[in-house]
Amino acid sequence: MYQTQEIGENAKVFRAELLERAARFRSSAEDPTRNLQSCPSLVLNADYTPLSYYPLSLWPWQTAIKAIFLDRVDVIETYDREVHSPNLDMKIPSVIALKQYVKPSEFPAFTRFNVFLRDRFSCQFCGDQHNLTFDHVVPRRLGGKTTWENIATACAPCNMKKGGRTPKQAGMQLYAEPIRPTHWQLQQHGKQFPPNYLHETWRDWLYWDIELEA
Ligand SMILES: [Zn+2]
Repeated sequence: MYQTQEIGENAKVFRAELLERAARFRSSAEDPTRNLQSCPSLVLNADYTPLSYYPLSLWPWQTAIKAIFLDRVDVIETYDREVHSPNLDMKIPSVIALKQYVKPSEFPAFTRFNVFLRDRFSCQFCGDQHNLTFDHVVPRRLGGKTTWENIATACAPCNMKKGGRTPKQAGMQLYAEPIRPTHWQLQQHGKQFPPNYLHETWRDWLYWDIELEA
């Protein structure tokens, strides 16, 4: 009984760690996809799909090896590089899979990043992908709230042009009504933005649909 509870607590802590790591690399310069020298490990869920597509779920190799010793992950693929310690030589894991399935929350957090991802990083009025800002569809001065349903991605010129008006008042049309997306919907959008660099051992675990078209 006690033991089960303890495992449950550990799983919770571990999950928090996963989410924290996923968040940490979102926009950071230390993004491991840009620094392959650091040999990041692609992290798959227990069903062998990536824990996250965008940002791609990657751990520093040190974290991956720690998880191996804690018996929380299986090694699926490795780099050619090895780490050495007095007791052990080990190839650095390039793809690992969690032993215990982490269920994603149904609704993702309302964050700036996730709003951009919902709107595929494009202005919802003209489609431009530069100078992106957030527009209150119903302006704040008219009681518009800062919610999934009232925030749309807009380029700075469109935002300026719309000013403190509703789309109708401004004669501007939204591509889509802003909605609160599900986790699944955001992941689908995330698949459209592959990282700049993919290690060859990751490819079998990613973007199946794209590979099929090639
Ligand atoms: Zn625009």
